Amino acid sequence: MRLITLEELRQEALKAKTDLWSAAQGLNRDVKLYLHWSAGHYGQFFDDYHINIDSDGSVYMSSGTLATVKAHTYKRNSGSVGISLACAYNATTSNLGSEPPTALQIEAMAQVIAVLCRTLDLTVDLCRVMTHAEAANNLDGLNPGYADNGYPDGRYGPGYSCERWDLWFFKGAAQGEGGNVLRGKAIWYQQNGLG
Ligand SMILES: [Zn+2]
Repeated sequence: MRLITLEELRQEALKAKTDLWSAAQGLNRDVKLYLHWSAGHYGQFFDDYHINIDSDGSVYMSSGTLATVKAHTYKRNSGSVGISLACAYNATTSNLGSEPPTALQIEAMAQVIAVLCRTLDLTVDLCRVMTHAEAANNLDGLNPGYADNGYPDGRYGPGYSCERWDLWFFKGAAQGEGGNVLRGKAIWYQQNGLG
């Protein structure tokens, strides 16, 4: 893991831009950003995500480039970037536990979204920037009807089997509103000169 600045993140996005877009367009879609939490401890990072964000808002890049295909979001890993908050150990859908997302983590994630979307030419919207909870509910309709995996209509999130519900809610975002809050903050940062 390597601590990086937002400017270094922008440089990494520029380097990976062509490869990310060709992988995504090979699947007839735009590049996507997926927003996670690790369900681990503060300070505990995982190589499954391109970017890990610690409780103090510091941003870490894992091995490879932003175009390296990692294993973060079921059936959605090609042409996408996985960003995770190091938090939510032992969280449940009714209690975020003793290591919930911090305000600094939420703000840092919004800044990372702002920089990546600007640099990768992505609109900040549900189709291009999704929480894992939203992806697990297949809210963009990308993964309908996999008969072979037991997830009807590709859904395994809140309201279904609830296996993944990253950022469905947190302090400052009601149930189901986490993605909207993060996208709204990212747009605010872009309008205020970041990215
Ligand atoms: Zn996740």
